[in-house]
Amino acid sequence: MAQMKLDANLFIDGHWVEGKAGSQPNIDPGTGEPVGVVALADTSQVQAALDAAHRAFPLWSALTGQSRGAVLKKASSLLIDRMHEIADGLLLESGKTRADAIGELRRTIETLAWNGEEASRICGKVHQGVVAGSIRLSVPTALGVVVAITPWNFPAVLIGRKLGAALAAGCTVVLKASEFTPYTARAIVQTLVDAGVPNGVINLIFGHPVAVSSQLMASSLVKAVSFTGSTSVGKQLAALAAPNLIRPIFELGGHAPVIVWKDADVENVVQVTAPAKFGSAGQSCVAPTRYIAHHSVHDALVDALVTKAKTYKLGHGTEDRTTLGPVAHGGRVVSFLQLIEDAVAKGAVINTGGKTLERPGYYVEPTVLSSVSRDSEILAEEPFGPVATVQSVEDIDEAIELANAAEYSFAAYVFTDSIHVRDELVRRLNASNIGVNQTAPSLPDVALGGLGNSGYGYEGGTEGVLAYMHLRLISQTHG
Ligand code: NAD
Repeated sequence: MAQMKLDANLFIDGHWVEGKAGSQPNIDPGTGEPVGVVALADTSQVQAALDAAHRAFPLWSALTGQSRGAVLKKASSLLIDRMHEIADGLLLESGKTRADAIGELRRTIETLAWNGEEASRICGKVHQGVVAGSIRLSVPTALGVVVAITPWNFPAVLIGRKLGAALAAGCTVVLKASEFTPYTARAIVQTLVDAGVPNGVINLIFGHPVAVSSQLMASSLVKAVSFTGSTSVGKQLAALAAPNLIRPIFELGGHAPVIVWKDADVENVVQVTAPAKFGSAGQSCVAPTRYIAHHSVHDALVDALVTKAKTYKLGHGTEDRTTLGPVAHGGRVVSFLQLIEDAVAKGAVINTGGKTLERPGYYVEPTVLSSVSRDSEILAEEPFGPVATVQSVEDIDEAIELANAAEYSFAAYVFTDSIHVRDELVRRLNASNIGVNQTAPSLPDVALGGLGNSGYGYEGGTEGVLAYMHLRLISQTHG
């Protein structure tokens, strides 16, 4: 497996082609060494991808939902056969552990299958007409060419989520996947193509992100942009999309609080939240990060988190017993160290971790910080790493104040047996995805989307497919 070559070309109008703007290395974050190259598109190739998607739209959108769904379901079953091979590449280029890579691919398989089923369930409504004998039809219609832009932290399932829903709806796609995880994008696209997606329906490009996205958003051919990534880039894309009134579907950053009330079993809190905290090295938009504990359980929670953090075996995804991999690239290490330094300068205590590993690659220790001052950057900025902060509070008002202090509204977690406390916290939390005594997974069958700085629109569920459709109103009377 060490010899695996994780190259990725561009896929335009049914052909894999080299990039006319050259290439860049695909780096294994576990070693810092290249494991392949990724092709970069020039402006003519970005335009060719848009043109191909535009040409393919009439035929793809005219197929029955059942036919489009059959392709998605075939892709899902092909992915089952390819899962272990793709996991080998995914873990090398992303830094995930094997368990995380396999888990993500299983979710991708489910996502393609669910959207394949949903394609045949798409339906409109018949309303009464305004005069006798007339009716009004509300008819969902595919929007057209969709631009999908995806990050590196879940390189398979986020592509599966966007492509699954857009293709089910009858749209065609130009996918700009992350240059940090190009092999996984190539593998998912190839699987869809092998399942029967016609030429031009999916086009995959990589390139200089600012130049490529500016060109894509300037095109009148594009009808929607589905972006998952950071809030800052999302705001730039929103501004670029506005002049052409391109419909935005944005899943952005998060900074999830975990409120642990006095009646909670802290050992259980840690067992339940640790996989979401330390899985994928904490690089998840729903990762529980800001633990806010009633003062009576604060110390016990810190101890339990420290004990759990120390059980992780930090290492390369190919090494036996690794349970926590590296972060995705050098920039994440710099950001992690800066946030820790700032917190400590403002009085935080490092209960465990806080350092990098003395070995090639981008390894940061699982970290627990307590006594974190309210003005610490780590409480405002998404840390996107294996770090948990713990703050102590006296009452519910203070817990809500701290939880709602970050400018994100995505995931939040509440641990209590009290119905009264639960209801009050859920009502007052500024969050769109709340786990009560459990985590809050993003599953294919239910709509989920961020609020405020965490985005707008939905992915998942019926609403996730309708996001790529327009409801046309047909009012008709017999002639
Ligand atoms: P990112 O915003 O840096 O990059 C995401 C995508 O945008 C990549 O394809 C990248 O090449 C491209 N991009 C980067 N800079 C750009 C620019 N200036 N203009 C246009 N495109 C640009 O995000 P990331 O670091 O790859 O991913 C991590 C972020 O994604 C975190 O903020 C995380 O919370 C968020 N995320 C959100 C969800 C969700 O469902 N809400 C899920 C996963 C990740």
